[in-house]
Amino acid sequence: MTCDLANPIFTDEVKATAHMEADRWPDGAYCPHCGSVNVHKMAGKTQAGMFLCNECREKFTCRTGTVFERSHIPLHKWLLATHLMAASKKGMSALQLSRMLGLSYKSSWFMCHRIREGMKPASPSPIGGENKVVESDETFIGGKAKNRAYAKKEPKKHAVMTLVERDGESRSFHVANVKAKTLREKIVTTVSRKSHLMTDELASYEKVGKEFANHGTVNHSADEYVRLGGFEHINTAECRFSLMKRAVFATHHSISEAHLPRYLAEWDFKWNTRKMKDGERAALPLKGAEGKRLTYRGPRGAAHV
Ligand SMILES: [Zn+2]
Repeated sequence: MTCDLANPIFTDEVKATAHMEADRWPDGAYCPHCGSVNVHKMAGKTQAGMFLCNECREKFTCRTGTVFERSHIPLHKWLLATHLMAASKKGMSALQLSRMLGLSYKSSWFMCHRIREGMKPASPSPIGGENKVVESDETFIGGKAKNRAYAKKEPKKHAVMTLVERDGESRSFHVANVKAKTLREKIVTTVSRKSHLMTDELASYEKVGKEFANHGTVNHSADEYVRLGGFEHINTAECRFSLMKRAVFATHHSISEAHLPRYLAEWDFKWNTRKMKDGERAALPLKGAEGKRLTYRGPRGAAHV
């Protein structure tokens, strides 16, 4: 599949709809309400893209039950936004997107978050396993005061941990703190216990490390990032973090706590699909868009765009 910006699915609503339908229903449309394949496309200009289910008599489109549902934004703009977000290495801000799509900031802000939701794996599989190394690292992001002159106290920093399988996938979490109990809960539910766990010397890892096949530690402060002939390191996790931090601070400036998990999902998505071509990567959030209709409220109380 070519996915260059000249593709008519990014400018033509009929072609965009046909693309989304083919992508969602490769074997023909079925009703998202009752699952029946006994459906037909409605005729008439005002019902473009509308299907009627002959079983339950409900109407639906290829957007029904996806993060694109209940949006007044044309589908071709959704496809373009998805492509731009998936293809950009550094991430794309809502402001950039609003300029490129000719939409309000509020609308593009919603689009960004819905697309990030589509980037989340539906049921994330555990990482690691026998003879696999999983690195864990934690960092703090945020806390840059825009109005430092007026703000009495430092804005809150958010603790984030990432678990990365070497040559494999990453899973990142916003955590309340970096205490042993908090980190353990994420590690044991994300990483196979047959793995070789590699962490820094934070005391929080000491106990949980014993639950794994092996546990290696690296001392950040000492000059020993790489030991044992290059095996004992957490460079993958650190690299993963530095990519994310550079992008987050360069593109988004500040990220609110409520939306942080979605930014992390976007960065895991980019890491986990780093070997794919842009077109392949851009197709994934469309698949992930299904079954994730969002109902949260935005920063200024608008529920839908
Ligand atoms: Zn039905």
